[in-house]
Formats: sequence, C-alpha cells, structure tokens
Amino acid sequence: MTDTAHRPDPPERMCPSTPAANATVFLGMITPAGRVAYVTPQLPAEVALAASAASDAPVESRYRLAGPCVTASCGFWTGEHCGLGERLVASYQETAGPTAPELPRCAIRRSCRWYAEQGAAACAACSHVVTDAR
Ligand code: SF4
Repeated sequence: MTDTAHRPDPPERMCPSTPAANATVFLGMITPAGRVAYVTPQLPAEVALAASAASDAPVESRYRLAGPCVTASCGFWTGEHCGLGERLVASYQETAGPTAPELPRCAIRRSCRWYAEQGAAACAACSHVVTDAR
C-alpha cells in the first residue's frame, strides 16, 4: 500500500518561455547580444506587455515571459516532461560542452519546469533562449 494520501500536492510548475497569451510573469529582457537579462524581484507580465505595446515586434522577441505549464495542452509535452527543456539542454551542451553554470538570479527557479527536470544545466541554456526569434 502506498502513502500517497499524505503527500503534499506537487508545486505548480512554470513554463519559462511562454507566449504572451499565457504569461503571468515578466521573466527577462533580451539584450542586444541575444542573452536574457533576468528581472528580479518578480514583476507581472503586464509590465513587459505594456512596455512592448508601442513596438511592431512581437513581445516574445524582446522579452521572456513565464506562465503556468499547461502540460498536455502544449506541443512540447512528452506525456511525462517538457521536451523543449530537454532538447535545449542537449543542444546547448553539444555546442558549449558540459557546464557548471553559475545560476543567474531568476524569479521563478523554485517553480520552473525546466530547472525541476534538467537541473542547473537548464539555466545555462535558458539564458540563450528567445521565445519568438522571427
Ligand atoms: S531555466 Fe533556470 S534561469 Fe531559466 S527560468 Fe528556469 S530557473 Fe530561471
């Protein structure tokens, strides 16, 4: 017999690269060098959405937004974990080699889907991700 009745619910996981329509957190800004400058302490997504309102460029090309992980409603969900986080880490390590990254200051680490599944390697890859790179 298992003791699942007494286990606390797992925390709601956050997607660290979500479109504006699902965003609740302003995670970071894309720098001219294409890296993510993380915003701490945490700000609501509305701050980024308002800042980008005057621009023709998609907000996801200039800012990183986070929101609740939608699991099976996302095309990257494998059924068990986030396939995008897994793929990003593998691809980053292929080009940069195994890394022992210094973790950036990030407002969602405790609930981040990629960090929960891929560990610190996710953060090294994450800082190069532009959600909409059109
Ligand atoms: S992968 Fe790391 S740096 Fe990126 S959002 Fe998650 S915890 Fe933050």
